[in-house]
Order: sequence, then structure tokens, then C-alpha cells
Amino acid sequence: MRMATFPKLLRALGHRGFANQQREQEFQVGFRSYGVRFLYISCMVSAMCFIAFWLTNGLLGRRDVWDATQLIRLAVSVVFLVFGQLVQHFKSFFAKHYSVSLSIFVGISTLATGYIAYRSQVAASAISAYWTLTTAIVLATLMTYGFARLQALNTLFLGGFMMAVALSFASLVPDYNAAGYQRMVIHLIAANALGYMLYRFSMSRERKLFLQAKRKNHVAELRRMKAQAETADRAKTAFLANMSHEIRTPMNGVIGALSMLNVENLTERDRLFVKSARDSAKNLLHVLNEILDFAKLDAQKVRLAAAAFDPRDTVVSACEAFGAIALQKGIQIRGDISDIPFELRTLMADEGKLRQVLLNLVSNAVKFTQQGEVIVSARVNMLDAETATLTIDVSDTGMGIPESALDRLFQPFFQVDSGSTRNYGGTGLGLAICKQIVEEMGGTISARSVIGVGSTFELQLDTPFSTEDSTSVEPSSGEPQFKDSLPPYDQVSSMTGHVLLVEDNEVNAFIASMTLESLGVTCHQAKNGAIAVQMFKDNVYNVILMDCEMPVMDGYEAVRLIRTIEEQEPHRPHTPVVALTAHALTGDRELCLQKGMDDYLTKPFDRHALAMALSNWLPTTVNCP
Ligand code: ADP
Repeated sequence: MRMATFPKLLRALGHRGFANQQREQEFQVGFRSYGVRFLYISCMVSAMCFIAFWLTNGLLGRRDVWDATQLIRLAVSVVFLVFGQLVQHFKSFFAKHYSVSLSIFVGISTLATGYIAYRSQVAASAISAYWTLTTAIVLATLMTYGFARLQALNTLFLGGFMMAVALSFASLVPDYNAAGYQRMVIHLIAANALGYMLYRFSMSRERKLFLQAKRKNHVAELRRMKAQAETADRAKTAFLANMSHEIRTPMNGVIGALSMLNVENLTERDRLFVKSARDSAKNLLHVLNEILDFAKLDAQKVRLAAAAFDPRDTVVSACEAFGAIALQKGIQIRGDISDIPFELRTLMADEGKLRQVLLNLVSNAVKFTQQGEVIVSARVNMLDAETATLTIDVSDTGMGIPESALDRLFQPFFQVDSGSTRNYGGTGLGLAICKQIVEEMGGTISARSVIGVGSTFELQLDTPFSTEDSTSVEPSSGEPQFKDSLPPYDQVSSMTGHVLLVEDNEVNAFIASMTLESLGVTCHQAKNGAIAVQMFKDNVYNVILMDCEMPVMDGYEAVRLIRTIEEQEPHRPHTPVVALTAHALTGDRELCLQKGMDDYLTKPFDRHALAMALSNWLPTTVNCP
């Protein structure tokens, strides 16, 4: 209220309030609660001083212990003691009425000091009276201004009041002359000025400390909120990953069952239904895989495996992968590798991951382009004798992306407009995954686009290079090693051999056994690792398909026992074990191999994938059409 009434005066006096009213109030509360402590200490110290004077005067025999002046001293000290105790016990009350209570305290102490001094010094000389009075006043003024944390107007009022008291008592002292008054006034003005400066200093210091503390709290709060948000985000991602993982298992059944349906015997209508179901299942699987991929990248569980590769192959294979879809849509897709120097043979990076990024970009380009073309162009600039920069542009003549969306394009779950989800599907995770992978590889990815003209996604990567022919180009660990060396799906006509299928889920076991039989192999089943080990002891199998997670005994333990048995019985041939797992994370493959398995097949798998995996270990008859 005071601030509203005298804002100019207050500003002139140097009062610097906070612009934010709530903050001002908060500051004043803190400032005053400090003042309350000061008030308590002042009361107690004053009480002690009065008692000390009373005692020393009495003990030194200067005054009778019970004379009037001494009794006033005693009474004032008792008042202060009581006042101090009240302040201590009702802190919040005194903080609320701080100005009034401090004024009362200063008023009582000034009056009492002045009056007692006057009474004591009646007979003394003017100089002595002058010193007694002014010393008391100066001290009170300094304390009031400097430490009491009163507001400016209060302080001025108290200062004036103390001056009046001092002058009134001084005028009562005999022999007090004009020169004495003059000195006293100068003294008081100086004391007030000094006190006021102290007040300003303490106030601005308090404000600074207050702001610092606020900022510190704010930063701590922000940190806490950030940590909380990150935990929540991790929980969300973990939840998504778990859900995806759980959904993949029944999906195995759906996809497996659909792939086992003999579509030849179905009517055209039913065949369409089966096709829709299969396409939807595959789409769902794609979404699940993206979520798992994202979760894995988010949890920084991706390990890159660099190996030598020819970037020309990567570009060509990415284009080939979408050739059929592009043809269907009536758009062209082509690769441009003319800017890769002739002498360059291989680059060194995780080609599997790079291909994943490229496939994603090309898939988007094809998806969002209705006419025209998609061009994948690669350039390699050799920076020095060892390092080259690989730049791959995926350009399309599609709908384009608005300028405002370009910034957020690589954020998870972002899609340019929600309508596009309906029209084109997708999760909005593809580009986020690309960015994470490229950054993990130490590269950059960016997009530029003109609405209605097209978009270009560019990724850039520095990698070591070689100009020598590399005969043993290692495939990336993320890819199945047999991928390119196998006959295509339709050509695998039959296999022979005995397969032990270890799987606890009945539906999955049924589908897998039917698939195996359709491939021509004999399938033996075990419900868990323990049964599998027992069966292994008594029989010989060409391949064991081993689920990893099972009750009673899991796949890892079963393989460990199987390998131990093999060591103990040297006449036994090494039995290949192919892990079947719904864990599609990188690292799981390594884990399976490390545990003694020979290969790895992720669920859900279809007939083709199973045939591919088995053909590594079983004799295969290939039909060449
Ligand atoms: P998804 O394709 O699964 O929705 P992405 O992260 O791959 O997720 O893409 C995010 C969004 O970016 C897409 O939904 C689309 O709106 C936009 N987008 C990506 N690539 C292109 C492109 N080549 N042309 C136009 N829009 C694109």
C-alpha cells in the first residue's frame, strides 16, 4: 500500500522494488523474517545492557539499587525481556507487523535511554550530556537503518522521532548552549546519513542474495524437472519397447499361420482377405520394429560394427529394393554414383546401418511422391590419404515439406500433418531413427524442400577409405550372413533332415512345426530347455531351433548343457543351434552366438526366413525354374 501511495518518493529514496509483485512480497517476507531475528537479539541485548547498568551502578555504590532511576532501568529491561520472548514465540505475527513492532522497540529504547541519561546527568556538564545522548541516538540510528530491514519511510520516521527525543532531552539539560545544539544536530544528521547508506547497502545486498538464491532454486528445480522428464521418457520408451516385444510373439503366430495358408485352394475373394491380413500383419510388424529400433537407439544400446563396403552397392541395392513399388506407382527411381571416384574401392562404416538409413529415406521419397522421380546420388570426396566424406542425397519430386516443419522433421513421432498418417501410415519414427544412427556414426543428416517441387535429404559421413580391392568384405553384423548367397524363396523346394524345435508357446510351436514339415524336414518338439537337453542326449538332430526364453530351463542354459555334452562325447558331431527369439535388438544376436548358438532368427519369421536359416545347415534341393 505504501508503495502505491508514495512510489515516487520511495524511488527517490532508492527503494528498488521487483517488477514482479509476487516476488516483491516473497522478498519482503524473507527480509522481514530476518528482521524479526534482529528484533529478538536487540531486545535481549538491550535488556542485558539495562540490567548490567543497574547492577554496576548498584555494586559500585554510585546509586542505590532501588532508587527511581535504577528502578526505571530494571523495568525497561524486564519489558525488553518479555518483548523479546514474545517476538521469539510469535515470529510470524511479528514478521507480519514488523514495522510497527520495531518502531515500538526503538521508540521505547530511545525514550528510556534518553530519559535515564537525562536523569543521570542532570548535574553533569553539558558535554557529558551531549555525549551520552548522542551516543545512544547514533547507535540506535545505525542499528535501525543498517540492520533492522525497515522500509525507507519507517526508517525516516524513526530517525525523525529519535532526533526529536534527543533534542527535547538535551534542552532539559542545564547549561546546554547553542554550540552544543549545533554539534548535536550535525552529529545526528551525519549519523542518519550513514545509517541510511547502510540501509541502502543492506537492502540491495539482500535483493542480490535473494535473486541469487532464487536463481539457484530455479536451476535446481529445472534440473530436477529435466531428470524427471528424462526418467519418464525412458519409462515411456521402455514401455513401448516391452509392448512391441510382447506383441511380436503373437504376431509370429499370425504371420506364420497366414504364410501356411494354401492360397491356391481359396476363392479370389478369400485370397484378397488373406492378402490384406498378411499385408496388415507385415505393416504392424514394421511399426513394431521401428519402435524397437527407436527404443534401442534411445537407450544407446546400438553398437556399430564398421566394415569395408562399396558405397556403389549400397546405393544400387537401396534403389533396387524399391524398384517394384516405384514401378507400380509410375515413378522412376535411379541411383547416381558417377561422382564416386573411380579409384575408390571401399569405405569403412557400418554398412548395415547405413543401408537402413538409406532404405528409410528412399521409402519416404517413394511414399510421398506421386509422379516424377526419386534419385539417390552418392559422392565421395577424399579429404586426405585416409579419410573421405561420403555424401548421399535422396531427392524426390514429391509433395514437399513446409519450411516450418523442416526443423522438427527429425524429432520422434513427428509427422508433417496428422492427415498424412491417415493417408500414408507410418509412425513418425523413421527419420528420428535415421538421425540417431547417422549421429552415432559421427555424421549429419539434413533436409531441404520446396512445397510442390520436392525434397532432398542429405546425409554426410566421414569414413576411412581404401583404393585397394578388398576380396574379403565382411558383411555387417546386423545382417544375416547368408543373405545374398541363397536361392530366392520360391526356388527352395525341399530340405531333408531332423530338426528339434524347442518352443514353449503352443501356437508358435504349431506354426513352426507345420512350416518345417512343409519344407520337407522332420520336426521333433520339446517344450522347454530341460526336455530338449534330454532329447538331445538320446538322439541326433541336424539342427536345433531353440527359443531363448522358456519356463523350467531357458535356451541359453540348454545350449550350455548341449555344448558340455558334446565336449564329453567327442564322437558326436557339432549340432548347429539356431536361436529363435522375439528380441530383435542388436547385441541379442551377439549374445546368442556368445552363448554357444550358431545362428539367430528373430520372431516373427515366415517360411522364407526359416528356409534361409535352415539352408545354411541342411542339405537343400533347389528348383531352378
Ligand atoms: P513416417 O514416414 O513413418 O511417418 P518419418 O520420420 O520417416 O515417419 O517421416 C516423418 C514425416 O516427414 C512424414 O510423416 C512426412 O510427413 C514427412 N516426410 C518425410 N520424408 C518426406 C518426403 N520425402 N517428402 C515429403 N514429406 C516427407
